[in-house]
Amino acid sequence: MSGGCCGPAAVEPKELAPRAEGAELPVVVIGAGPVGLAAAAHLAGRGIDFLVLEAGDQAGASVARWGHVRTFSPWRFNIDAAARRLLEADGWNAPDTDWPPTGAELIADYLAPLAELLGTKIRLGAKVSAISRLGYDRVRTNGRDDAPFLIRLDSGEELQARAVIDASGTYTSPNVLGGSGLPARGALGTRLRAHVESGRIRLLTGFFTHRVRETAEGVEVISRAPSGAEQSVTVDLIVAATGYRPDHSFAAELRLDLDPILGSTRALAPLIDPNQHSCGTVPGHGVNELSHPEPGYYAVGVKSYGRAPTFLMATGYEQVRSVVAALAGDWEAAREVHLDLPETGVCSSSLAEAQERRVGLATGISGGLLSIPLPPATVDAGSGGGCCG
Ligand SMILES: Cc1cc2nc3c(=O)[nH]c(=O)nc-3n(C[C@H](O)[C@H](O)[C@H](O)COP(=O)(O)OP(=O)(O)OC[C@H]3O[C@@H](n4cnc5c(N)ncnc54)[C@H](O)[C@@H]3O)c2cc1C
Repeated sequence: MSGGCCGPAAVEPKELAPRAEGAELPVVVIGAGPVGLAAAAHLAGRGIDFLVLEAGDQAGASVARWGHVRTFSPWRFNIDAAARRLLEADGWNAPDTDWPPTGAELIADYLAPLAELLGTKIRLGAKVSAISRLGYDRVRTNGRDDAPFLIRLDSGEELQARAVIDASGTYTSPNVLGGSGLPARGALGTRLRAHVESGRIRLLTGFFTHRVRETAEGVEVISRAPSGAEQSVTVDLIVAATGYRPDHSFAAELRLDLDPILGSTRALAPLIDPNQHSCGTVPGHGVNELSHPEPGYYAVGVKSYGRAPTFLMATGYEQVRSVVAALAGDWEAAREVHLDLPETGVCSSSLAEAQERRVGLATGISGGLLSIPLPPATVDAGSGGGCCG
């Protein structure tokens, strides 16, 4: 039995050269979204064997679910450098760098050709259900770092890996409707404000969704404030825009050092805290901030941010560049963090508004990350029952 004791230690990434034992095993990347595929491109660029496991039936399966939404960040921030090198070597022409693609365009013009190049290195329909160390549950210590990772798919198939880059995103685990505080997304927030000011949309603030029930008139949503005061509205349709949370359950047998609030690593939490940062002010970061006590396991991409809505693809690309450099034993490159965002911030609402003026909106809404809070409107606690038509 291992008898390790456990104080809350800061996590130092271990400068392990690729292990002799297990060195022949591939690095497994979970998820073929923008960041998982960027990780694959960096691994390919460094000649490291890898396999991408994707639960969906296409690369960018989660992006496809918001394919109709136009990104606020133009192409030049949405393409990873290693992916670009691979694609250009194959004769690909980058789309107009100033154009913000929709999710569907991001797939058609970038993710799908990249996935095609990576070929059999990507397995579709391969949903990871559990990860551990071969022969080690979370408690056993002696010899743990030399044991390969064991990855189980929901088909029951098991695979081994020398390291795991978990880019499985958060899109499939939305926050519950009842969570208080709706994380507004920049451009959406700006447009909503205009609609609120024109009186087209009625904004209820201080609305703590407590219960939802079907009535003959529609759906009644009941708010109960911390004071106990209740109010209600009856609506035709509820769209829950309550954000996402990471699902760490399949890594439950690994030793993770998670921030108790955000669910990111504890080292990353202060850099992405939405109370302090919008996405444009998050500093570049890499393997140092992403390391867990479990060497060789890295959550990257939007999953790495936990509940913080401040993620940008560009930041995720820098994460995987650094992590893959560390896996290659190139610690100098791993620790040199580059992130080249414009001073105004790629997610500033002014950029998003300029894009809207230029290309219009794909659906009447645009994606965008937290920047401008909606203005508060006074709620008459007795005014329940009205619907918003
Ligand atoms: C509407 C919207 C607009 C956005 N606009 C922008 C923008 O303009 N600019 C920007 O920089 N960012 C934007 N983002 C944020 C972010 O860049 C994207 O969410 C991006 O897709 C995150 O990439 P990812 O690879 O980390 O995760 P995802 O794209 O979520 O990919 C995760 C992949 O993992 C797969 N997967 C999940 N679970 C498993 C499992 N158990 N086993 C195997 N595979 C699994 C999924 O099927 C999916 O393909 C936006 C996000 C949303 C939702």
